[in-house]
Amino acid sequence: MMRWLILAFLYLAFSMQVVADPLILSPFTQKESLAPHTDYWAEGSDEITLQEVLQLQDSAWTSNPREDDINLGYQDNAYWFRVTVENPQLITMNNLLEIAYPVLDHVDIYRVSAGQVGQSWSLGDKQPFYARPVQHRNFLVPMSFPPQGEVTLYLRVDTASSLQLPMTLWEREAFFALEQPRLLLEGIYYGIILVMVLYNLFVFLAVGERSFLYYVGYITAMPLFLASLHGMAFQYLWPEATWWNDQAIIFFLNLTVAFGGIFAMRFLTVLPHVHPRLAWATVVVVALSGLFALAALIVPYSVMILPTIVLAAIGCTGMLVLGTVRWLKKDIAARYFGVAWFFMLFGGILLALNKFTVLPHNLFTENATQVGSALGVILLSIALADRLNKEKRRAFEAQEQLYREERKARLAQEKSLQVQQEANALLEERVQERTRDLENLNEQLMELSATDALTGLKNRGHFDRAFQSACVRAYRFGQPLSLMIVDIDHFKQFNDTYGHLVGDDCLQMVAQGIRQFVTRPQDLAARYGGEEFVVVLPDTPEDGAVRVAEKIRESIETTDFQVSDDLIRLTVSVGVCTLVPNRADAAKQIFRQADEALYEAKGSGRNKVSVFDANGSAQLHLV
Ligand code: GH3
Ligand code: MG
Ligand code: MG
Repeated sequence: MMRWLILAFLYLAFSMQVVADPLILSPFTQKESLAPHTDYWAEGSDEITLQEVLQLQDSAWTSNPREDDINLGYQDNAYWFRVTVENPQLITMNNLLEIAYPVLDHVDIYRVSAGQVGQSWSLGDKQPFYARPVQHRNFLVPMSFPPQGEVTLYLRVDTASSLQLPMTLWEREAFFALEQPRLLLEGIYYGIILVMVLYNLFVFLAVGERSFLYYVGYITAMPLFLASLHGMAFQYLWPEATWWNDQAIIFFLNLTVAFGGIFAMRFLTVLPHVHPRLAWATVVVVALSGLFALAALIVPYSVMILPTIVLAAIGCTGMLVLGTVRWLKKDIAARYFGVAWFFMLFGGILLALNKFTVLPHNLFTENATQVGSALGVILLSIALADRLNKEKRRAFEAQEQLYREERKARLAQEKSLQVQQEANALLEERVQERTRDLENLNEQLMELSATDALTGLKNRGHFDRAFQSACVRAYRFGQPLSLMIVDIDHFKQFNDTYGHLVGDDCLQMVAQGIRQFVTRPQDLAARYGGEEFVVVLPDTPEDGAVRVAEKIRESIETTDFQVSDDLIRLTVSVGVCTLVPNRADAAKQIFRQADEALYEAKGSGRNKVSVFDANGSAQLHLV
């Protein structure tokens, strides 16, 4: 048992001290990882010279434990590395040494062959980009290996970043042959992102939806972070800003998390009143990463990098949680988000694991982020556009609904207006009907008020008015106007003999006798009062009026009035006056003169027609 333990211990000690094998170059070597051929030694707190390092025992060195990569994580001190390359060929081999981790601060390379210190290079992103022997985003050093010789490279690496040393020895042509597709891939990635940034920016400018702005912030910060990490930003954007080159990584990574967080909140509608805890957690992460981004402008990289990575990891996981929760709540947007975030997170997790030395550094781990993020960016952009579309459709539907309701309201309004109009029309019709009725009634009333109830002739009131206007008309047109007054002779006696009722009957018959000779439309016969009648004959000369008067007198005289079994005769006296009025109010004068003529007729024995002299002389003519 004891023996086994000792053996195991010896084996361990031996294996610890095993020096890495040299790399043996062959004419077929195109690309060799130097990791399996590398030893390293931690320098400690005091800086030492190459000479001192050359003095170190082999046992001081540790062989790189990993076959494919050199990754020591975050280290406070500088590390020395050594790797021996042997060229058994008969020709000089011209190669390129690539260190594919461009954020290393200081990398000093010394070439030692046959115990002689030869050329040395001072690399690292604390030197301006243009100081590099080969201007490339990664550190490249041309190396030639003499025939049948052995060269040992010593590298001193001092960096605040994660200490990774992915060293590859390339055959030159092979490097440049592979460099082209690598560059093309980078170009495709940044091209896609640029198009997406511009597209979403234009959509934001056109639509004004803030999700697009946050998204633009997010997909601008993320590739800038990757470009800083991969040395692209140093090469093309700030080749001389050596301090900023480190800080940029912190700055853009934090901005990525901040914008990603705000975007996720808005895109997934994670609002304080729906998901209070999730919303507040996101706000805290966003605020912290915003703060870290600001801090990156002053606080050194070495202080900021660990909290930043932890926060970014929390942010990534948090967003996956947001996506999942919303997905479970049946938010369709969350489905896109979840898948997109899976792509991004996949790359991000690989990168983080790689930084903490859990995963090796290789083309896949370094580019997974880019492939993942490009896919994620495209997917999220589609999702955003889709959401915009849906919202547009929803707004359109709401508008349609509004329009339909408005139409309904308008129709209802129109209908009520129509009903009202119909009611109004009906009312108006009724009013008109009533008015017509009233007018008819009024007419009847007027007629009644103008009519003498006993004889059916016009009454005195009507006569007064009509005679007045006849006078005015005659005066105006200079026409002769005739008036006759008809008075029944001895009617008092008649009444006394036969009684009033018979008298009334006789009055009616006399009225009938007068009416039959008053034929022209303008002529008017009226009962003036008692047994007196008047006849107005406009535009009628004296002889015409006398003729009518005579006809009346004669007709009455010859008419038999039936009273019980007796036949009785009656007579009338008529006074006539004809005048062409020389003033508008000649009515009284005409009446007075007709009355005088009547008086004359009575006086001369009754049953006579008497005419007032038209020439104005007082002479009376009896017919
Ligand atoms: P004279 O020949 O002079 O005209 O004599 P007279 O009796 O006709 O004249 P008077 O003016 O003195 O009398 C008029 C009479 O007419 C008085 C009245 O008895 C009668 N009379 C007036 N109005 C009516 C009436 O409406 N009905 C009836 N039955 N008689 C009436
Ligand atoms: Mg009389
Ligand atoms: Mg009389």
